[in-house]
Amino acid sequence: MLDLTHDDWKARAERLTFRNQAFIAGRFVDAADGDRFDCINPATGEVLTRVASCKAADVDAAVAAARRAFEAGHWSRAAPEARKSVLLRLAELIRANLAELALLDSLDMGKLVTDAATIDAPGSAHFFQWYAEAIDKIYDEVAPTGPGDLALIRRVPLGVVGAVTPWNFPLDMATWKSAAALAAGNSVVLKPAEQSPLSALRLAELAAEAGVPEGVFNVVPGFGETAGQALGLHGDVDCLAFTGSTVVGKLFMQYAGRSNMKPVWPETGGKSPNLIFADCGNLDQAAEMAAFGIFFNQGETCSANSRLYVQREIRDAFVEKMIALAAAHQPGDPLDPASKMGAIVDKAQTDRIMGFIEAGRRTADLVCGGRQVTVGDRGLYVEPTIFDDVAHHDPLAREEIFGPVLSVIPFDTEEEAVAMANDSIYGLAASVWTDDLSRAHRVADALHAGTVSVNTVDALSAQTPFGGMKQSGFGRDLSLHSLDKYTALKTVWIKYRP
Ligand code: NDP
Repeated sequence: MLDLTHDDWKARAERLTFRNQAFIAGRFVDAADGDRFDCINPATGEVLTRVASCKAADVDAAVAAARRAFEAGHWSRAAPEARKSVLLRLAELIRANLAELALLDSLDMGKLVTDAATIDAPGSAHFFQWYAEAIDKIYDEVAPTGPGDLALIRRVPLGVVGAVTPWNFPLDMATWKSAAALAAGNSVVLKPAEQSPLSALRLAELAAEAGVPEGVFNVVPGFGETAGQALGLHGDVDCLAFTGSTVVGKLFMQYAGRSNMKPVWPETGGKSPNLIFADCGNLDQAAEMAAFGIFFNQGETCSANSRLYVQREIRDAFVEKMIALAAAHQPGDPLDPASKMGAIVDKAQTDRIMGFIEAGRRTADLVCGGRQVTVGDRGLYVEPTIFDDVAHHDPLAREEIFGPVLSVIPFDTEEEAVAMANDSIYGLAASVWTDDLSRAHRVADALHAGTVSVNTVDALSAQTPFGGMKQSGFGRDLSLHSLDKYTALKTVWIKYRP
């Protein structure tokens, strides 16, 4: 895979065909009203295809199919081992179609195809495999009741799970929700972001090929205000798993309150702090990882380390390292394996990023980057950008920019760094760099974040829960804890003659 050249990827992109209809009840169908929207490659501005624009009627059809499938029981009541074999086949099919899935995400939203082929798509296969392997190893409970009573505490699937996902990791976000929900026996109706629906549609097709029964996995591409809202308000959706912005996460909680009180699991925004202490023994590595933490995926990462707190005595030297590393992350054609950063997802997001940069020029010290650029005279790209001396209350230090923009904030003491890091509405992730073990524990304890990485950034695996505190949401993706979202506890109490 990694041996593919720029020309190879371009040739594959030329030959690629797109699934551009909704996937409902096991087959591809047009939206009921025939409406479609443009799917645009942000690296070139070209329309890749026109995708079915689902509305409430299509969401109704998908939810009805999901409900029928759930009640039929071919999946929901299948032995966990049976679901396991199907999901293992799906993992293999993802691996067999890795290059295609990687290309779909790269063309759809601008990420580097190399990242998509080495991180996103293998990650998707791994997560399906992980939940497949886990699901027949989980035991239910028996309560410690007295003689004559047998109380079984069982975990049962909820029914129809609605999932609404963002555009930054299209295949992986679809996977994070659906792998656990499907493994637990639910039916799923997924609405991918309108900017990046293509890999989810292909995933649905592969799931059917793997043996996921008709109606168990449905994909309704469309806009948030139509398809997303219809799913959020639907009275027959039993749970809504969401990843996206904090603003829209709050809307889903309102939708639940206005409809059937379905549990809503929002994984939302972040403004993750990265604390570099002077006692960190390997500042080169800290700088490299800090650059990765903000420039990976063009900074369009919920847990991006966008606030860099550097202890004052090492600040100048550290910022010099960061400027040098930023120079090595210049954007290029996402299909070129030599490129270090891809295109920004769309014009609205590019304008938003540039708005923060232009405002920041007046309030902080722009030390590198700051321009919107093109590659080969086209596309939407933003240079890796670093602001130094950012004031604690500057929007650069407070708001999720979701682009390759780093804010450097100096600090003197541990207490000051922790206080500034915690003074945020977000609490998704945080990083700490120090060689002092006691400090590492102390600071990790004190930081309000769902994940604290020590001497690394963005530590994440199938085995560990991922999610936030405060307005970064609640509920967890990944790990066995994710199954809590997609199952209910059911007590079955049996009286017998002792
Ligand atoms: P949005 O919140 O704008 O969109 C997320 C999803 O919600 C999309 O499918 C979108 O559809 C849909 N949506 C938008 N408006 C509504 C609405 N009124 N009603 C129902 N659904 C709606 O986020 P982005 O796609 O812009 O993604 C970026 C955000 O996602 C960032 O804030 C980032 O931090 C967060 N994120 C969080 C992660 C986490 O695990 N905590 C991981 C990755 C990203 P449409 O396509 O039409 O907009």
